[in-house]
Amino acid sequence: MEQCAEDDCDRPAAVRVYVPWEADRDVCPAHARAIARQEGVVAEPLDGAEDAWL
Ligand SMILES: [Zn+2]
Repeated sequence: MEQCAEDDCDRPAAVRVYVPWEADRDVCPAHARAIARQEGVVAEPLDGAEDAWL
């Protein structure tokens, strides 16, 4: 499974975040929640990664 794109994070990526002012990237649920709180960001669960949300 792909790893979270954030620095110093080794959790599996479960969400793709579309950030208008940065490159799209795949991150873990914890980072996705923090990133998606910003206005204009879209978070989309990755196929097959639903278990990582638990
Ligand atoms: Zn992360």
